[in-house]
Amino acid sequence: MAFKEKVFSGVQPTGNLHLGNYLGAIKKFVELQDRYDCIYCVVDLHAITVWQEPTELPKAIREVTAAFIACGIDPKTHIVFNQSQVAEHAELAWVFNCIARLGWLNRMTQFKEKAGKDRENASVGLYAYPTLMAADILVYRATHVPVGEDQKQHLELSRDIAQKFNNDFSDSIRARGFNDGLFFPQPEPIIQGPATRVMSLRDGTKKMSKSEPSDQSRINLTDDPDAIALKIRRAKTDPEPLPHDEKALEARPEADNLVGIYAALANISKAEVLRQHGGAQFSAFKPALSDLLVAKLSPITAEMRRLNGDPGYIDSVLADGSDRARVLAAETMKAVKDIVGLVRR
Ligand code: ATP
Ligand code: MG
Repeated sequence: MAFKEKVFSGVQPTGNLHLGNYLGAIKKFVELQDRYDCIYCVVDLHAITVWQEPTELPKAIREVTAAFIACGIDPKTHIVFNQSQVAEHAELAWVFNCIARLGWLNRMTQFKEKAGKDRENASVGLYAYPTLMAADILVYRATHVPVGEDQKQHLELSRDIAQKFNNDFSDSIRARGFNDGLFFPQPEPIIQGPATRVMSLRDGTKKMSKSEPSDQSRINLTDDPDAIALKIRRAKTDPEPLPHDEKALEARPEADNLVGIYAALANISKAEVLRQHGGAQFSAFKPALSDLLVAKLSPITAEMRRLNGDPGYIDSVLADGSDRARVLAAETMKAVKDIVGLVRR
């Protein structure tokens, strides 16, 4: 059976949105709107897998929503909502907890990184995070998932869960009239372009992240032009000028990162950036990169600020989006209950 093509993705309300979130995820979300029906979610249930202050969380949820809209997501044509308003995500996640194997989850590197040394003290939710993510995607039977490179492993797990569900329940699925005994699609990651893994400005081997304590490590979507220029000026680099050849970036993670950021912002390839700037010192390239960042980000920052002043509008977007998402999710959940053999009224 061919599944209807549909895009789903999410961003956690865990703090300041940064350039990695924009280039790795949100910019792609915007571009995919022309070709697909899209569902974009503020994944607040994922956020609480680590501690969130109840007085701060609502603001963070609204800020991610504002960023989606400010970056160009159209919440009328597509769906924008926060996860906790559609209970079916958590409900399907429970079914998937019974499908996924401990051995599968034990391999997840994000849990290892986020739990750190004190693993015994990590929440059960942090461990089960990938099964909730699979539910987010599959409750809409979405076929395409734009994410940064760091989420590739979780997407693979979602595919494994979809496949095992289809296998385990194949007779029941067929009996319910789903062609080929396939109920869930295998969701495809969309991880493309020159900035699928934006690195920290202080350490070219670590990903840029909301949860990194040093603010100097990232460009926030709320940073003003002076802050952007200062952070880029201070960004770690090596003493060599930019190479002419992309191959030479492989051993130079910091240079590679800045070139990748430039390429993604300018919508050109890294090779093209090196054609334009190869041979330049960082003292010349960094100001060019700052100017490009400011040109691309300042309209977004301004619109985010305007939207953050109108929480009533943001809440109405989330209410409308979750109403429309819930209809789709409820339909899947009914079928899942029938397939699994749970009695419903
Ligand atoms: P946290 O540290 O709380 O996990 P995060 O910065 O990783 O925050 P998420 O909300 O987990 O942000 O991820 C949202 C999207 O942004 C995902 O698709 C993720 O792959 C992408 N993303 C996150 N960091 C980067 C990065 N450095 N480069 C490219 N994409 C990224
Ligand atoms: Mg993350």
